[in-house]
Amino acid sequence: MTSELLDWDRQHLWHPYTSMSDPAPVRLVTGASGVRLELADGSTPVDAMASWWSAIHGYNHPALNAAARDQLDDMAHVMFGGLTHEPAIRLGQRLVELAPEGLEHVFFADSGSVSVEVALKMALQHQRGAGRPGRTRMLTVLGGYHGDTCGCMGVCDPEGGMHSMFRGFVPEHVFAPRPPRLGEDTTEWAAAFEALAEQYADELAAIIVEPLLQGAGGMWPYPAECLRVMRSVADRHDLLLILDEIATGFGRTGTMFAADAAGVRPDIMCVGKALTGGYLTLAAVLCTSGVAHGLSRSEAGVLMHGPTYMANPLACSVALASLDLLTTTDWAANIDRISRRLTPRLEAARGLSGVADVRVLGAVGVIQLDHSVDVVAATDAALRAGVWLRPFRDLIYTMPPYTCTDAEIDTICSAMLQAVEAG
Ligand SMILES: *Cc1c(COP(=O)(O)O)cnc(C)c1O
Repeated sequence: MTSELLDWDRQHLWHPYTSMSDPAPVRLVTGASGVRLELADGSTPVDAMASWWSAIHGYNHPALNAAARDQLDDMAHVMFGGLTHEPAIRLGQRLVELAPEGLEHVFFADSGSVSVEVALKMALQHQRGAGRPGRTRMLTVLGGYHGDTCGCMGVCDPEGGMHSMFRGFVPEHVFAPRPPRLGEDTTEWAAAFEALAEQYADELAAIIVEPLLQGAGGMWPYPAECLRVMRSVADRHDLLLILDEIATGFGRTGTMFAADAAGVRPDIMCVGKALTGGYLTLAAVLCTSGVAHGLSRSEAGVLMHGPTYMANPLACSVALASLDLLTTTDWAANIDRISRRLTPRLEAARGLSGVADVRVLGAVGVIQLDHSVDVVAATDAALRAGVWLRPFRDLIYTMPPYTCTDAEIDTICSAMLQAVEAG
């Protein structure tokens, strides 16, 4: 049975960033519970990826299951055009309460990428509403990742976002150098960033970045000071500041939102990934009243977006339950616990051959190699050590569920070291 299923999968289904002609191996999952996956071979590895950073409370959580079941009895979905419902309203209220001061308006999107598209469109419509229709480009930094749809690809790192393959199709934006490493001096970077903003100001609608930690673009933590520089540059040149908190939101880096660590208030903020605790696809764009009403002054008069599954009630209900779980615990102390557990154990990798760098920020632990990871060998080694890892490029990393015990964090760290030696 397992081999039949896997065989059909191999011949017909794409997995993320894979080839139909030369498919990469995949493993059959039959269930998931707590922080563990259940594989068809009977093994139960700890999921050090939290299903791409989203399953912060672990799998099969009774409170999240109950929220989904209860909502199912009312309705799984209704259109959001002309209709509304309590789950969306309550979730909107929660997000406005939790978000940095002043973000008061909410657009629910169906994935992180779509929320970034909406944020970019908001910025453009806002500039048109302000009588600056020529401002259609974005200022960002190298090394970023904002999603895979076309608007998003344009603001991803040019290499990681494959700008050359899609030239002529993906919009061309303005890229500043990657921010310095956490702990390094920001003066030189700030000067370069300011100079670019000055040079292109008449063409720029907004600055868009992942605050504090670049995720899929390279797991790169950078100084909070850079965000304060961006805020002041944005103010000086009438640019909006869009913070993409899809990876960092809901505590991952140690504050509820990464922006909180810098004391910076964005004009527009995107959240996704952990929003539903890894249950359903949902994202949200929050913005200030200035942006919300400013974009109404554009010729359309309305925000030009409206997904079919906008504000899906099931997803909103689970998101509410997930935020309840998060905010009724001392999540900050918990992230600190994980961080302090990861740090010394991953530091041990520094001595291993092939290791270029080790970095930890909040509940994010990264080992960077001096070569591309042999993903198959590294994944196999980690599974033998009881852990599911998904390395990419030269990075072996973990963004574990917040519910991992100390012992489970230790298991993850030793599996990462095994993966380093294998990959
Ligand atoms: C994952 C991610 C996205 C894209 O979200 P999807 O739900 O995969 O479309 C955008 N920005 C950041 C920072 C992300 O980590």
